[in-house]
Amino acid sequence: MALKRLAAFFAVMACCLAAAAQTPPSGLPPLPKVSDVRLYVLDCGTIISHQPERFGLAREDVPDPDFSDPCFLVVHPKGILLFDTGLTDAQVGRPIYENKMGYEGQLKTVSLKGELANIGVTAPMITYLAISHSHWDHVGNANDYAGSTWLARKAEYDVMFAADANAVARKGYAALAHAKIQYIEGDHDVFGDGSVVLLSTPGHTPGHQSLYVKLARTGGVVDSGDLYHYTAEKTLGRMPPREQSLETPASRKKVDAFLARTHSQLWMGHAIDWYQNAVKAPGWYD
Ligand SMILES: [Zn+2]
Repeated sequence: MALKRLAAFFAVMACCLAAAAQTPPSGLPPLPKVSDVRLYVLDCGTIISHQPERFGLAREDVPDPDFSDPCFLVVHPKGILLFDTGLTDAQVGRPIYENKMGYEGQLKTVSLKGELANIGVTAPMITYLAISHSHWDHVGNANDYAGSTWLARKAEYDVMFAADANAVARKGYAALAHAKIQYIEGDHDVFGDGSVVLLSTPGHTPGHQSLYVKLARTGGVVDSGDLYHYTAEKTLGRMPPREQSLETPASRKKVDAFLARTHSQLWMGHAIDWYQNAVKAPGWYD
């Protein structure tokens, strides 16, 4: 009898300890325990822009010249991947004349930290950080996630830590120099089951990559990073003039073939016509 009571006591204790381990800090909702992969689209800011000619397009080709700037969170049974970190959280609520990057303004209404907190995720819970590439609009908060394992491409790393790296962008990712780095090459299967793959798509930058996620209900999706900015680049067959002689044409062909082979959707993160209709966090795709 005493033994049975002891066993019952330990069973209750084990249950309570497990519950405590799952309790997120400061009243956040609990981190979703998933059996299928989930993909969240996070609001990481808006870029006020008005030069579609830089992308090989005329003003009349582009109904909305501004850019959405989402981040993506993949919750997999084996861990969590954050893909891109957007505009810096320091810009939340600031007027665009304070933070122009060349001709582009930054508009930020919510923080990445807050977007993650809404779904019960804090930085220490994130297993892997990956960035499509190292431009300022994708690395604004990278420092905050330098405690995760950074899935890095050597070609991009070399650009990021070169002496002439863009100072504003570098401010956002400087802490990654001290992160735990896992160098990846080619197409990298993040969790080893083919459901989350970082596709090598160089051109826009030397180590540019896209994110493929295979979802049970939605099917396959590819966020193509800055392989495209505007939907019209694809429909009209245009690209930034400087990229015509780089690897962008080959990377676009590769992604087209991948989409056809895997019957996947193409998501262009910067295209507001895609973003405005996307399911945004705390909703998700699965
Ligand atoms: Zn971008």
